Formats: sequence, structure tokens, C-alpha cells
Amino acid sequence: MTQPLKIYNTLTRETELFKPIHKDYVGMYVCGPTVYSNAHLGNARTYISFDVIYRYLLHLGYKVRYVRNITDAGHLEGDQDEGDDKFAKKAKLEQVEPMEIVQRYTVDFHQVLAAFNTLPPSIEPTATGHIIEQIEMTKQIMANGYAYEANGTVYFDVEKFAKEYNYTALSNRNLDELLNNTRELGGQEEKKGRLDFALWIKAKPEHLMKWPSPWGVGFPGWHIECSAMSTKYLGAAFDIHGGGMDLIPTHHTNEIAQNVACHHEQPAKIWMHTNMLTVNGQKMSKSLGNSFLPGELFEGRHALLERGFSPMTVRFFMLQAHYRSTLDFSNEALKAAEKGLTRLLNAGKVLDKLNASSTSTIEVAKVKESVYAAMNEDFNTPIAIANLFEAARLINLIHDGKEQANEQDLQELKSLYENMVYGVLGLKDESIGGSDKMDELMQVVLKIRGEAKLRKDFYTSDQIRDQLKEIGIEIKDGKEGTSYNLG
Ligand code: AMP
Ligand code: ZN
Repeated sequence: MTQPLKIYNTLTRETELFKPIHKDYVGMYVCGPTVYSNAHLGNARTYISFDVIYRYLLHLGYKVRYVRNITDAGHLEGDQDEGDDKFAKKAKLEQVEPMEIVQRYTVDFHQVLAAFNTLPPSIEPTATGHIIEQIEMTKQIMANGYAYEANGTVYFDVEKFAKEYNYTALSNRNLDELLNNTRELGGQEEKKGRLDFALWIKAKPEHLMKWPSPWGVGFPGWHIECSAMSTKYLGAAFDIHGGGMDLIPTHHTNEIAQNVACHHEQPAKIWMHTNMLTVNGQKMSKSLGNSFLPGELFEGRHALLERGFSPMTVRFFMLQAHYRSTLDFSNEALKAAEKGLTRLLNAGKVLDKLNASSTSTIEVAKVKESVYAAMNEDFNTPIAIANLFEAARLINLIHDGKEQANEQDLQELKSLYENMVYGVLGLKDESIGGSDKMDELMQVVLKIRGEAKLRKDFYTSDQIRDQLKEIGIEIKDGKEGTSYNLG
């Protein structure tokens, strides 16, 4: 029997048996992008990881509400409310409205994720669409005594909160060290403590995206938006909260503090964090200048790239690492992923054409169980994929007549491919050979070649065969007619 699903929880630092709060339902919140620039490949890794997690939960039969926000206001350059507003800065640079920046990069984000075949979330709320909820939550935190107003800005009182609760529970950092290292207020003297962060920020007169509030005209802080939107759509307590690991020390730590200060309970039972995509061992990030865009990768348009790689190759490359391990980008690894993906998908095509024997010499159940066991062990996609390669190997052996599969074996293999390769891993055949049109086209070409042979025009028939071979399409003349194989 396969073990039930276990998930690593950053909060407890343990791999725990997954038991949703409401039987059969899962509420999952994942921090969405800050839409002030193009989504880079590192961002894509995080969302592809959560896509597989979402797909697997759905596959297990859970009714999942997956909420992933769009941060379209309030994110300042420093994660602890220092620096300029990211949207305002970009808008000024490009001489457009901040909302034009938001629109442009929201569209880009959706296009990138669609290229990687990720499913849209159930709800995609925006920060600007939930200003009232953020104001209400800020009011409640103040009423509960954990926030104070200073000169039109509302701050969360970290030191007061930390006296009653474990403020650094998620990051496991030493609070005294944090306090001592960051004692000075850095020009924000209106704060009581350096670790205090803004829930609501007073807008300067020239600031464009601003709203009225009980504390004057301003805009919400970045952290409060996630607390307000997760509460609105998933309740004060829900099952899973996710994001990239870089969000642990500040954004997620502050989200927990806000929720606890408001509702007196932990927002999420399980905190899941994806590890970083690195380039030569360094986190891929826009500010380090080592990031490239998915479009550049598809087309091979970047100094770091030897050539282009398809979206499915990139998705497969990412899934060949566990979501909690770092993944280093390299041309070699992508080439290997390309080969592996072709092998896996080709076996899927062979599978569709296999004939059942009356006897069976293979054990499909064992392979299937290993795939599920891997996924149930904290979504271990690399091990699941290794076992799917075993399924591909069996398929090829059956095809070559070296093993035999009965009707039930073939059905099981087909459902394994359907559910895991195409369903949960979300891999699809990108070659035009996957389409009906391609098949129709090939039938036309084969017919012309057949007619040429009948006329004894072997020059033409050989030309067709040889030139197709050059582009990876192999023609086989057999007893039952001519068939083709897409390499
Ligand atoms: P941002 O738009 O900067 O708020 O980031 C969106 C998401 O991408 C967050 O969950 C980040 O943790 C994640 N992220 C940023 N850089 C990387 C990276 N190099 N690898 C994986 N995830 C990343
Ligand atoms: Zn968030």
C-alpha cells in the first residue's frame, strides 16, 4: 500500500502527514508576482512547482481552492518598506501610468505561465482590488494593540508582538540578534522599533496610486495584502501557504505576525517554500543581472545560452529537481532534459499503438506504486520521473517483443501516462506531429511517394524518404503499407 501524502512544513521543520482542515477540501495561497517587470525564469520555477502541487492535489480528489495574488501596489524596493514604490519608479522611467505597468506585466506573467502549461489559479486577486479589506485588517490589528499610527503611516509593533508570540518561528532566526543588528532606524525615526513594518503608508503628494483611509491618503504595505486576501478567500486558518524561500524572513514572517495579531491564530497549517533557481550557484534575480526571460530561453537569445529550448523541455528540466533543492541552470542540463523528455513522450506515442498479448511478463503495479510513493513523499518529482522512465523502458521492450503485456497492463500504463505524465507533471507533446493535421499532411506525402514508386520514379520516392529522414521523420515500408515514425 502506498503511504498517504506527506508535506514538508517550513514552520515545524518536519515532513508531516497531510490532513486538510475540512475533509476533501484544500485551501492553498501562493504569493503571486509583483508586476513591475517581466517574470524571469526563477519566478517561473516557483509557479511551475506549485502548479504540480496543485495538479497532484486535484488528482488525489481534493477540491482545491488555489489563490494566487497579483501584487500591483505597495511593494517598495526594500522588502522592509524602504525605497521607492516599484510601480511608480518604473512608470516614471517609461513615462506611463503605473496601471499601464501593472497591465503590461500582468499580461506577460500570464503568457509566460501559459507557455509552461500551468493551470490558472481558482482566484487571482489583486492588491488594488482589496484596499478596503487591507484597511479593515489594519484597523483590527490596531484595535488589538499591535499597531500604531505615526504621521499618517501605520506600523506593526514587532517588539510588542514578539513579547507574546514567537515572531521568528518561520525563519528560526534569533530575535535578539535581529534586534541588535538592526537597531538604528535608518531615517524612519517615526517608527518605535527598527523591525516595525508599515501596514499603511502615507502617500507623498506626487504619489499616483493612493487611497483615502482613516489615517489620511496613502497606500497599503506589501505584507498586509496577502494577509487580507488569504483571509478573505480562504478564512483565518487554511491548509497551505506557499512561495519562494526568499520570502521566509520578511514577507511571510510579517504575514504570520499580522494574521496572529488580527485573528489570534496561525493562518496556514503548512508553509511550503520552493528553492531558488541559480546560475553558476547564484540566485537568479533581476537585481544581480543574471536573470533571463523565458522568451529569451525559448529562442536562445542570451549570452548564457548556446541555443533555444522549448517550454516543455524547461518545465521538464525544472521537475527533474525536487522543489526544495536548488536548481542550477546550465546548457548541458537542458540538453539532457530535452533528450529525457523526448524519450518519455515517444514511449507514450508507442504505447498508444501497442497490441495486448494473452500473457503478461511485466509488473506495472510496482512501477505505478513507486511513482505515487514518490509524489506522496513531499511531491518528489525527480524520483517520480525516474520511475516513469522505467514505465517508458517497459513500453519499448513490449514494442520490441522482448516483454509481453496483457490488456490490463496496457490500460494501467495508459492511465499512468494520462494521469502522471500529461496530467500531474503537465507535460505535452510540442512537436506538430502531435496534431491530426500533421498526420493528414504525412498521409498526403506518403500517397505521393507511393504513386512515384508505382511509376518506378525511384528518384522522387527516395528523395522524399531521405529528406524526411534528415528532419527526423523515418519512413518504413512494410507488408501492410508504409508508415512513419517521428524520431
Ligand atoms: P516577486 O515577483 O519578486 O515577488 O517574486 C515572485 C516569486 O518568485 C516569489 O515567490 C519569489 O520567491 C520567487 N522567486 C524569485 N526569484 C526566484 C528564483 N531565482 N528561483 C525561484 N523562485 C524565485
Ligand atoms: Zn505574499
